[in-house]
Amino acid sequence: MKLADYTTVRLGGPARGFVRASTEEELIEAVRAADANGEPVLILGGGSNLVVADEGFDGTVIQVATRGVSRGAGPGVLTVAAGEEWDAVVARTVAEGLAGLECLSGIPGLAGATPIQNVGAYGQEVSQTITQVRVYDRKTSEVLDIPAEQCGFGYRTSRFRGADRFVVLSVTFGLAVQVRSAPVRYPELAAALGISPGDQVDSIQARSVVIELRQRKGMVIDPADPDTRSVGSFFVNPVLDAGALASVEAAARARCGPHTRVPRFPVGDRAGDGLVKVPAAWLIERAGFGQGYNPGDGARISSKHTLALVNSGSASTAALMALAREIRDGVRDTFGVWLAPEPVLVGVTL
Ligand SMILES: Cc1cc2nc3c(=O)[nH]c(=O)nc-3n(C[C@H](O)[C@H](O)[C@H](O)COP(=O)(O)OP(=O)(O)OC[C@H]3O[C@@H](n4cnc5c(N)ncnc54)[C@H](O)[C@@H]3O)c2cc1C
Repeated sequence: MKLADYTTVRLGGPARGFVRASTEEELIEAVRAADANGEPVLILGGGSNLVVADEGFDGTVIQVATRGVSRGAGPGVLTVAAGEEWDAVVARTVAEGLAGLECLSGIPGLAGATPIQNVGAYGQEVSQTITQVRVYDRKTSEVLDIPAEQCGFGYRTSRFRGADRFVVLSVTFGLAVQVRSAPVRYPELAAALGISPGDQVDSIQARSVVIELRQRKGMVIDPADPDTRSVGSFFVNPVLDAGALASVEAAARARCGPHTRVPRFPVGDRAGDGLVKVPAAWLIERAGFGQGYNPGDGARISSKHTLALVNSGSASTAALMALAREIRDGVRDTFGVWLAPEPVLVGVTL
């Protein structure tokens, strides 16, 4: 068994042990048993945010295969087992007239992974609708319901990311009971829908346009499209304060001309604190790495999206990481900005 068969980038060597957990009890028991034996554990969802070393994982991989979606106490309350396929959950909410997840359509992976990095796209993040996350705490061996306020959600992060302490068992969402979407905040999506940012459309329409936009960028897994053999965005958009932004702007003007304006976006609800998000793709392109950039050892930049590093079929994890390092160093040398990886790296470092 190779982990390459379980990751969307189709990379990763063997695991010493592999357990598929189909019920919450099996999941907890598998983790508990491995912990009791001092065995390293890797929780595996859909493998869409994982880069695993060519040497594999020297421990037990526990694949989450729990199922179940239930409507909760309030009208828009939905509790989803960790092993449910995320996009099927979104499709279901849209079909049932629940709004709040429609812009997160087409994202691969499982529901249980969504709180880990506070999955987001096109102006929505799961932190906007998650009300609580049910976890198994490996430190205390307890099952806990953690309310959203205690999840430490931020841009592509949460208290769960990198901590390895909690196994997500299920996620509860509080959604609006309405056929209309939540207000569409993302300018590119609003433009594609022919509305102004802040307006609403039917969720069904928002979902189908999001999927169309994503497909054009190779951001919906499609075995027939080699540009989708990736982990999605390899780098997170850097968050800069005013001083760092001014340095990037000076470097950009020196390199690209005196009228260059570095694009920027507010960081969620932190617009007031002077921090902005700068698109990593913009920096990467201006540092000399365009779409399709291919150093020739099997890993390349997607021909549709600068942020996606693709396994063209013959890549190794080492080649993918070498490409990531080359890009990171190029952006650092050009703009003085350190790009951080978005996927979880197992047995490799950037
Ligand atoms: C084509 C493509 C497009 C993408 N687009 C987006 C996007 O628009 N926005 C976005 O935010 N992400 C995006 N991603 C990244 C990825 O899909 C998400 O991060 C997704 O939530 C990962 O889910 P997964 O089940 O595949 O997790 P995995 O890759 O299996 O695991 C990721 C991490 O979460 C941990 N984990 C998984 N399940 C659990 C659990 N139940 N309990 C505890 N830990 C767990 C794993 O141990 C690992 O550390 C994209 C990826 C691809 C390939």
